[in-house]
Order: sequence, then structure tokens, then C-alpha cells
Amino acid sequence: MKRVYFHTLGCKVNQYDTESLAELFTKAGYGIADTPAGADVIVVNSCTVTAEADRKTRQAVRRFRRIAPDSVIVLCGCVPQAYPAVAAALPEADVVTGNKDHRLILDLVDRALSSRSCVVDIPSHAKGDDFEDFRLSAFSGRTRAIVKIQDGCDRYCSYCIIPTSRGRSRSRSLESLSDELDNFKAQGFREVVLVGINFCCYGLDIGRTFVDAIELACGKGFDRVRIGSLEYDNISDEAIARLAALPNFCPQFHISLQSGCDRTLKAMNRHYNSAEYLALCEALRAAFPDAAITTDLMVGFPGETDEDFADSLAFAEKAGFEKIHVFPYSARPGTCAAEMEQVPASIKEARTDAALKLSDELRQKFFKSCLGRTVSVLCETEKEGAAFGYTENYTPVKVLNCTGHSGKIVSVRVTGSEHDNLIGELCSAG
Ligand code: SF4
Repeated sequence: MKRVYFHTLGCKVNQYDTESLAELFTKAGYGIADTPAGADVIVVNSCTVTAEADRKTRQAVRRFRRIAPDSVIVLCGCVPQAYPAVAAALPEADVVTGNKDHRLILDLVDRALSSRSCVVDIPSHAKGDDFEDFRLSAFSGRTRAIVKIQDGCDRYCSYCIIPTSRGRSRSRSLESLSDELDNFKAQGFREVVLVGINFCCYGLDIGRTFVDAIELACGKGFDRVRIGSLEYDNISDEAIARLAALPNFCPQFHISLQSGCDRTLKAMNRHYNSAEYLALCEALRAAFPDAAITTDLMVGFPGETDEDFADSLAFAEKAGFEKIHVFPYSARPGTCAAEMEQVPASIKEARTDAALKLSDELRQKFFKSCLGRTVSVLCETEKEGAAFGYTENYTPVKVLNCTGHSGKIVSVRVTGSEHDNLIGELCSAG
């Protein structure tokens, strides 16, 4: 039996795409390899969100070529889709394709295996493309399954290459979503995470809304339904009210802010200002008293002055995020922002440090506010007599003296915290 090994970079949408590929290969008779050495085929599903992601992609392809000189190495995903010439020029890859048509990959691998020459085929995304529908029958892992409901983005933020690498926004039908959720429920998953590239644009092309998709998932009987990263778009008061009525919807909202400075937001071509964003946070906190709101903050965007950065940081503090993912701006060739005057690297570094410091402070403040509370934790792993898992709002918890509960939801009293997680004691197992 031939064996295939997968290496995935980037976001949860990419992780879902890899699961789709794994199912395709399995149906074609392949076994899944745990290590790259000795695999007949190695698939690198790439990410190009930053220059660092590009570098990691190249590094992975080269490393696998060294480890497995005779394997067919497939480079797919966002790097070839956004930068086809760069990807095709990588001598270590045998197959180079993108993310538009994953079903093509088996055929390309067969061609590379029989010809022992490099095969490059990167179909472009086009307006009107349909959502690539897989209806997975299984998902690797034990505690939570990722479910892709939307792909692509029509926003064209000035720094972002995703509209090129992922194409236009397109949505999965509710019928297809329902089938896949039934499969995951039958497999015993207690939690699912619905994800998309621009999640809240789900349904605009098929006369539905992202709330329709969440309601469908919540109606399937999972203990927990959570959602991946969000943009500011389309989260109306009505949407919030409908979500708040769902008892198994997890109150975790990761909403990209990018900057808290209105001048910078405008230059980024974001479609909201800081006041509108703050109003959204307040509406979510009013509807979900246990909401954890986290965000992405970009520092060193072209033209960002010291004053702009100070405004951005002050806003982030005022918004009271539970955590901030800090990203130094990374120029993506082909975007408008890459042509603007860049902020020197040393300034970006200093701003990154300052933003990380604030993130840490906010995180510790949030942990303190949890002391004495009782939370429910889905236990995922165990180590040295303690269980590790997440609360409904995705706060990591170490549960002391707790073994044999993996895959179960337990009630935990929060007694303290460490740098990255809460600490608690078991009250009861559910
Ligand atoms: S909304 Fe998000 S994915 Fe779309 S262009 Fe902007 S940053 Fe990129």
C-alpha cells in the first residue's frame, strides 16, 4: 500500500483542506503515514499570510526532500495560488498546485509518479466559482472537528493577499453542512468549530447567513459549537440575539481589529472605525456575560506613526480584550500596502514588544477575574496527574488531580493561574 504524509501550515481552513485531501488519498487506497521518512507522497499544504509563512513553507519542502529523497513532494495551498512562479521555481517540489481544486491532486501525483518529472498545474480562482464540497466522513483527532462553511474573501484589505490566494467569497450549502455534521456527530465528537476565511460573509451568495449555519450546527446535539476567526462584517443585533438563544453556542469571539487607530484602519481599507468596533464588543458582552473577545492586532503598517500606534494600543486596552494576537506587518507582494512607504524593522520590533506586553497584562487581568468561578472544561490531554482542556469561551485550563476524563466535560472551580492558563480543581464530571 502506498503511503502519504501531510504537513499543514496556517489556519484552520487549511487544516480542514488537509483533512479533505487525506480522505481523497485514503479512498484512492493510500495509507496515512505518521512520519515523512519512507512516505511515497508528502503533501505540504502551504500558507502565505506573511513572509514568515512563505519561509516556513520553503523550509518544509526542502527539509522533506532531504528526509525523503525518493518521495513525490506536493506543494499545494496558498503559496502556489498567490505566487505561482515562485512556487513553480522551487526545485524540491515534484507537484505544484494551489487550493482551488483539491480533487486534481491525485491525478497530478500519478503523473509525477509515472513521469518522475515536475508537474505544475495551478488553476486560478474565478468569480462565480462554487464552494468545493467534500462532506467529510471522518476527522482526525478526538475532541473537536473543524468544519469549513465558507472560503475566499471579497474585501481586499490593502495589506492582504488572501483574495488572490483564496478567491472570491463562496459558501457551502446547508444541506452539505448538515450531512457532514451528522457524520461527525455519529463519530462521537462533542465539539465542532465552524470556520471560514471571512466567516460572517457566509451565505451572502446563497441567500443565507452565518447564523443559519451556526443554528444548524447547534441543532445537531453537540455539547459545544464554536466559531473560528471573524471579521467585523455582518454581525447585526439580530444575529447576536439569535446566537445568544443557542445554549450550546460557545461565547468565544476572535474578531480581527488590526488597528485601533481610525487613520490606519482607513489606510488598511478596513470597513469600520474604532467606535463601531467597540460598540460591537459591548453588544457581544451584553448578550454573552461570559464572552471572551480576542483579536488580531497588526503593528507597523505602512505609514503608522508613533501617535497612530499609541492610539491603536490605547484602544486595545479600552476594548479590554482577553488576548491579543500581535502581528508585525509583513509586506505581501501584489498588495497595495506593499507599495507604500514601509515602517523600519526596528520600529516594528519595538511596537510588537509593546503590544505583546499589553496582551500579557490583559490576559493576566482576565485570568484574575476568573478566580473562584466554576467553569466547564472539555478535557483533551493528561500529564502528570493533571488534565488540560478548554472552557466554553476557549480559555485553557489545567485541572489538578484529574485523570481518566479525556474527551469528557468536567466542572472545575478556578483556583489560580499560570502564564498561559487557568488552574482549577475538579467539582464534577459530566
Ligand atoms: S477581510 Fe480578512 S481575508 Fe479579507 S482581505 Fe481583509 S484581512 Fe484579508
